Amino acid sequence: MRHHHSFPNTLAAGLAMACLAGVQACQAEAPDQADAEEQMDAEHAQEAEGGEVHWSYEGATGADMWGGLDPSFAVCDTGVQQSPIDLAGAIPAGGGGLEIQWQPTDGEVVDNGHTIQVNMAQGNTITLEGRQFSMLQFHFHLPSEHTVEGGVYPMEVHFVHQAEEGDLAVVGVFMDAGEAHAAIQAIWDAIPGVDEAPAPLAGIDPNAFLPGGRAYFRYAGSLTTPPCSEVVSWVVMTESIAVSQEQVDAFAALYPMNARPVQPLNRRFILLK
Ligand SMILES: [Zn+2]
Repeated sequence: MRHHHSFPNTLAAGLAMACLAGVQACQAEAPDQADAEEQMDAEHAQEAEGGEVHWSYEGATGADMWGGLDPSFAVCDTGVQQSPIDLAGAIPAGGGGLEIQWQPTDGEVVDNGHTIQVNMAQGNTITLEGRQFSMLQFHFHLPSEHTVEGGVYPMEVHFVHQAEEGDLAVVGVFMDAGEAHAAIQAIWDAIPGVDEAPAPLAGIDPNAFLPGGRAYFRYAGSLTTPPCSEVVSWVVMTESIAVSQEQVDAFAALYPMNARPVQPLNRRFILLK
């Protein structure tokens, strides 16, 4: 069976989407599925996301309906550690626990029907509480999915990383209206049409999307899209980065609302690191 950490970039793109949509499929992939993935273009990757079951953010297939759209989405309704959440009442826990090892890396920009996503080649890792996770992709939400004491930001970017064991660590960064952001503009300028192939983009530096301060919220949660798998170690940076209103508007023209509502905290706690 193919090793997930030595695939070529084009395959990584399809796999990254499949992994985000269904970690179990990502972990236990049959050889025939692997063959199928190698032939999968961006459109098919899009269909594979969410097991080909259509879902959306509003209306009859909106966020409140996800759990009933497919048996594999049930945890969207029945889960007890769902994401996103309102980041309130965080417990100060001192700093540390997170090392970010990112560098300029080649990638490709995809419009996957739910967001704009940048699939990344290998080479970007984080070490969270002693465990290493490798970046698969990053993507955007409008407005922010997490809130801070009820406050919503214009946008939020999610850097999705995966451990050898298959579980995920996602680093979220809030995007607030201010100066234009050059790295965002490079991505926006590369966005392909919905029926077009992924657009290669060289030398994307994820560090450009990190705020100056490294304080973060830390909690245990889930994917914020179907199948809502509860396999995500969440890191949400407390400081935001600036993007221009024009850049927010440009994303909104494609995706006016792609944020899941906040979910109950239940018995979890939030650490402020
Ligand atoms: Zn996300």
